[in-house]
Amino acid sequence: MNAHNNRYNNEKKKRSNFDLNSLIRKNILNIDPYLSARGEHNKDKDSIFLDANENSFGSPLSFLNSYNRYPDPFQKELKKKISDLKNISISKIFLGNGSDEIIDLIYRIFSRPEVDHAIIFPPTYGMYEVSGKTHGIDIIKILLTEKYQLNLRKIENSMNDKYSKIIFICSPNNPTGNDIKRKDIKFIIKKFSGIVVLDEAYIDFSSQKSFSDEIEDFPNLIILQTLSKSWGLAGLRIGIAIASEEIIKWMNKIKHPYNISLNSQKIAIKALENKDLFFYHLKNILLERKYMEESLKKIPIVKKVYPSSANFLLIKTKTNISSYNLYQYLMKQKILVRDRSKIVLCNNCLRITIGTHKENKYLINKINKYPQFNQK
Ligand SMILES: *Cc1c(COP(=O)(O)O)cnc(C)c1O
Repeated sequence: MNAHNNRYNNEKKKRSNFDLNSLIRKNILNIDPYLSARGEHNKDKDSIFLDANENSFGSPLSFLNSYNRYPDPFQKELKKKISDLKNISISKIFLGNGSDEIIDLIYRIFSRPEVDHAIIFPPTYGMYEVSGKTHGIDIIKILLTEKYQLNLRKIENSMNDKYSKIIFICSPNNPTGNDIKRKDIKFIIKKFSGIVVLDEAYIDFSSQKSFSDEIEDFPNLIILQTLSKSWGLAGLRIGIAIASEEIIKWMNKIKHPYNISLNSQKIAIKALENKDLFFYHLKNILLERKYMEESLKKIPIVKKVYPSSANFLLIKTKTNISSYNLYQYLMKQKILVRDRSKIVLCNNCLRITIGTHKENKYLINKINKYPQFNQK
C-alpha cells in the first residue's frame, strides 16, 4: 500500500472511531440541565400560566403585552426560518446571543482550564483568544503564511492528541478578507482529533460555498454563522452554530435558558421573511466592494488592496506612510476605519468596511486629499 492510501485509511479509521463524549469535560458530562418551566411541553395558548413567576397582569408597556412572558428557550419559530433558509435540519442548529456566546460555550464544553489548549491562526478574529484566555485555556498560535493561508505542516506538528481540544479556522478570514483553501480546511478537519470551529461569519459575501452541506461527514466540525453581517442585524445579537445533533445537544444542555430575548426572536423572524431586501443589499455590497477595490488601487499612498471575499477590504499603505497616521487623519474627518498595523502580518494595514456608495466616495475623496506633511 502506498503512503497516500495508508494515510487515507488512517484518517478513515480515526473518523469512524470519533467519540464525542471523550472530548466533553467531565463536569459538563455529569450536569443535569436546568429545565425551564415551559421548555419541555407545548404551551397551549389558552392555558393559565402560573409556572414561571411572571407578572400575569402584564408589563408597563401595555401595547407590548407578551413581554411579560419569558421567550421560547429553544427559539423554535426562528430556527424553523433559519432551517428553511439554509436547508439544515433544526436539530443541527443552535442559536446564541451573538457568535461570541457560542465560542464561549464551545470552550466550556470541550476544554479543561489550565490543562488544554486551543490552536488559532493569526492574523484572525480576536475573540478566539480572548474567550479562551477567560477560561484559562492556553492559545497556540500558528501564523498564516504570507498569502494568508494555513501553514499545514506546522499546524499538523502542533496538534497534540491529549491536550489540543479546539482549532479555530475563520473563512473568509477577518481581518485579511480572503477565503481559506477548501482542501486545507478539509485536511485539518480530518487530521484533528478535537473540535474544529469553522467561522463563516462572512460566507454570504464569498463565492465559496459553506461547509454546512458537509456537516454529516464531519462529526468534529462546528460551523459558526451570524445574522450580524450579511443580514444586517448586528444589534439583535444572533449567532448560529451548525453541527451534529450530538454537539447541539451539549450546547442546549448548558446554555443560559433564555439566551435569545423575545425582541430578538420576533424581529429576526420578520427580517428573515424579507429575503428580497437581503439580496438587494448583498448585491450592492458586492458592487461597492468592487468600486472600493478599484478606487483604492488608484490612490498613490496605497501599496496594496488585498483580495476580499467579505464586506471589508484590507489595505496596506506605502512604506513611507504610517497607516496609523492615516487612520487618525480619517478619524478627524469623522470616518472610522480599523487600524490593524499592530497585528502580526498586517504591518501598515487598515481594515475598511464597505459602506454605502456615498460613504465610500467620501472616504476615497478624503484619502486622496491625505496631506503630504503627515507622511513620515
Ligand atoms: C463579526 C464576526 C462575528 C460575528 O459575531 P457576532 O457575535 O455574531 O456578532 C463572528 N466571527 C467573526 C470572524 C466576525 O468578524
